[in-house]
Formats: sequence, C-alpha cells, structure tokens
Amino acid sequence: MNPSRPHVVIVGGGIAGLAAAFFLRDEPVRVTVLEGSPRLGGKLSVSEVAGVPVDEGAEALLVTRPEGTGLIAEVGLAGDRMAPGTTSSAIWTLGALRPLPRRQFMGVPADLDELTRSGVVSDAGAVRASQDLELPPVTRDGDVPVAAFVGARFGAEVVDRLVDPLLGGVYAGRSCDLSFDATMPVLAAASRRYRSLAEAAGSLLPPPGGTRSGGSVFTTLSGGLGQLPVVLAKASGAEIRTGAMTRALSPAPGAPGAGRGWRLTVGSAAADELIDADAVILAVPARPAGRLLAGVPGASAAVTAFGEISYASMAIITLAYPRSAFPGASSGSGLAALGLSGYLVPAVDGRDVKAVTFSSVKWPHLAEAAPGAEPLEIVRCSVGRIGEEALLQRADEELAALAAAELAAATGVAGAPVVHRITRWGGALPQYTVGHLDRVARIRTAVAAQPGLAVCGAAYEGVGIPACIATARAAAGQVTEFLRGGRQ
Ligand SMILES: Cc1cc2nc3c(=O)[nH]c(=O)nc-3n(C[C@H](O)[C@H](O)[C@H](O)COP(=O)(O)OP(=O)(O)OC[C@H]3O[C@@H](n4cnc5c(N)ncnc54)[C@H](O)[C@@H]3O)c2cc1C
Repeated sequence: MNPSRPHVVIVGGGIAGLAAAFFLRDEPVRVTVLEGSPRLGGKLSVSEVAGVPVDEGAEALLVTRPEGTGLIAEVGLAGDRMAPGTTSSAIWTLGALRPLPRRQFMGVPADLDELTRSGVVSDAGAVRASQDLELPPVTRDGDVPVAAFVGARFGAEVVDRLVDPLLGGVYAGRSCDLSFDATMPVLAAASRRYRSLAEAAGSLLPPPGGTRSGGSVFTTLSGGLGQLPVVLAKASGAEIRTGAMTRALSPAPGAPGAGRGWRLTVGSAAADELIDADAVILAVPARPAGRLLAGVPGASAAVTAFGEISYASMAIITLAYPRSAFPGASSGSGLAALGLSGYLVPAVDGRDVKAVTFSSVKWPHLAEAAPGAEPLEIVRCSVGRIGEEALLQRADEELAALAAAELAAATGVAGAPVVHRITRWGGALPQYTVGHLDRVARIRTAVAAQPGLAVCGAAYEGVGIPACIATARAAAGQVTEFLRGGRQ
C-alpha cells in the first residue's frame, strides 16, 4: 500500500461497496472499505443449517445480466457456480398450488389461455383479463403504480394473484405503491408500443414453445452466494475494516472551496476516529446515506430524496426436514415430487408467509451436502410484506411454528422441522415507489456536484445483485475519473 497515492474510502461493505473496491484494484489509488457491522456482505450471508451451508439472504443470481457472473469469474469462483434443479414455481392460491404461467413477465401474463388453464385466477378473473386484448389503449401521464396500470388492462385478480406476489418476491413491496417505470422499466417501455399489455409482455419473452438458450436464468455458488463478499474483499486488495461505523462526512477542514477532499468520522462518539480521503463512495442504504450527506453543504436535495425512500423489513425462516416427512418420499423423490422450486403466496389469500423456496430442490447440491444417512429437505420461508412489521416482532419459535404450519398446509409435510434458523433483515429492501426515478435523478445530480463523491447500491437502479454491481462499477469509474482530472 502506498500512502502517497490518493485515498478512496468506501463506506459500506455489502456487495456494492466490495465490488467498487474490486473495480478500483488496478487503479493508482489506496482503498479503504469501512463496514459498520462486524461482518462483511450486507444482505449476502451464509451459515450452516444441519451441517449444510445455506444462504440467509440473497441466494439466486440472475445470469441474464453479465455483471454478477462476470464478477464471480473475475474473482476465480466460476468453478463453484451451481445450476438450479428446477425453476418452475407455483402460486399458492384459491386453495391449491397452481403453476405459475410460463409465459409471463413479472406476473404480467402474455398468454391468456395459459393463464386460464393455470387456475391462478377465477373464471371471472380470466374473462376480465382477456379484455386486455380489446380494450382501448390506457394512457398514462408520468409514473403510475404497477397495480393501477396492470389492473386497468387485466383487472384486479391478475394484480392480486400474480403481479403483486411476484413483485413482493423481489421488493417485499405492494403493487399499489411500487412504480411501474422503476420496477418494470422494460415492460413499461414496451407498453408504450403495444395497445395490449399481454402483447407487450409477449414481446419480451422467447417465442411460444421456445426456450432461452443457455439453460436457467439463475445460478448460485456451492458454498452459498454469501461466500462471495469475503472472496471479493480479499481480491480487491483494499484495506477492509469491519466494526467501522461511519457517523459523519464533511469536506476536509481548511479546504478552501470544494474539491480538496473529505473527512469521515468513524466509530463511537466516545472514541471516534477521523479519516481523510480524496474521494468517497457511499455504498450504504438510503437512510445512512442521507444521514451522512446531511453534513455536506449543497447536498440537501439528495438528503431530502434519500428521506423519501422507504425500506421493507423481512425475515427468512429456514426449515430442515427429513425427506421422509414429505408425501412424495415413497417414490424416493421427497419434496422434488412436486416438481417445483417453491411458491409465492398472494396477500389476498391471508397467509403470513409470502414466498417459499424449496432450497434443496432448487439447488440439488444442498440435498447432497447433508451429512447423515437420510437426505434432508431444506426450505426457506419469507415473511414480511411491507406494512406487516408486527409479524416480525414475534419470537423466533413463533415464526418457525407459523412457517411450518403453513408449509404443512401447502405441501402435506408431516411433523415438525428438525432444525430451524431465523434471519431477521431490518431495512431489507428499498421500495421503488411511484416517483422513484425522479428521486434517484435528484440524488445523482446533487452527488455529481460534489467533487470526488459517488454513491452505489440497491437504492438506485435495481435491487438485484447484478444491478448493485453495475452501480458499483459506475461509482468506481466516477471517482477514478475525478482523481485523474485532479492530477492533471
Ligand atoms: C432476504 C433477501 C433476499 C434477497 N435475495 C436476492 C436474490 O436471491 N438475488 C438477488 O439478486 N438479490 C437478492 N436480494 C437483494 C440483494 O441482496 C440486495 O439488494 C443487495 O445485496 C444490496 O447490496 P448493497 O451493497 O447495496 O447493500 P447492503 O447489502 O445493505 O450493504 C450495505 C452495507 O453498509 C453497511 N453500513 C450501513 N451504514 C453504514 C455506516 N454508516 N458505516 C459503515 N457501514 C455501514 C451495512 O452494515 C451493510 O453491510 C435479497 C435481499 C434480501 C434482504
């Protein structure tokens, strides 16, 4: 490490902060990552359940965008990539597990006959949905909630039983609040070219009967996606500090005018430490980003916009059962007999669990990894739709019991799980509500006016890991460009 090199400080050691550090590894800079918690990785974390490493947070990486798989390859983990056993999902609604229509885009159906056959909506709901093909265009001025636009085309049932649970699976949010432009940008753009929204959705899918070339759209790592942060941190060559909560950010004192560096206050009020930096990347959620920018003159527009981004909290309840507990066990296939990677549960069906992943079916290597004579089935249940915070106040044992009871009702599993693990994620997912794109534009404009400051992470252009990595690459590029300019 060369102390005479410009110093870049990255606040936040989640996937975005660590990716930004990695992208700076070949630049003539000294990089420090300040992670407030004792652990790196943020929403990426893995721990053992019954001796098997199972992700506690993010578990599936989209391969249709290059950023995630590219980074995995660059850090030398390509050989650890695992393919899913199945990605067929279901909706648990109207009293049964019903296949998620294959020809849909984030729940927006492209094939209305398939929607009818799926039984996900009632007969009356299917008739209403088919009106999309005849209705005059629905015009919209500016951003609208997903539910408003999709509901106007297909009716409330498609929104409630398909789109809402799918959006809930990604954002833990509700379609009546989430922005059509921000959460489904490609479909929102296509919907301006087609009168029918089903046709617009179809234009984004492979042709009927066709499949995407190259296999599944998801991948994971054999040791869990949660193994990526530590490997990334090491590969970045940066100085990595955990337990380094950054409490304040301000222009470096004595710097006449802007552009002469930054000062960060780190640690507890009783024993704080001052760190100077030539450039700073904030890779933290909206709330801490807003708090840190409050000390920066001229950044009030960003502070206000950050304050408008709310977060959903959730919990992941991981359960393990002996394979024989599932009805399909007599055929030897256990949970795999259902042919599903899991199911989503619409809020209108009144259940607490909103999504279930059959982890040992979706990722067969997990079933094989279980030590002991009998294979284990591992299931992840997710609770906490936005507004359901009271549910998350319940004790671990209660959450495990309610998840097990609902799983039994859906799958017929007998008996109690042999192990349970509860992971609570406070402030888990930013809500891209109506106006999100405008909020992000205000933040980006205000931050760009601050010399040597950049932001990245899930609060901006997508919550998925590839989108977070894309913002990290952009932030690394911005500070590099600034520092190069400064040296001219
Ligand atoms: C349960 C769950 C499941 C998910 N599943 C998937 C999935 O399967 N696939 C997918 O692509 N995405 C998934 N996501 C979304 C994705 O994991 C996240 O959006 C992404 O990991 C966020 O990364 P980040 O670096 O932006 O933020 P974070 O992971 O939140 O990292 C920010 C870091 O900053 C630290 N920090 C905060 N304030 C300070 C401060 N003042 N000083 C120092 N450090 C600070 C935090 O401790 C944290 O470590 C999931 C999210 C959750 C919660």
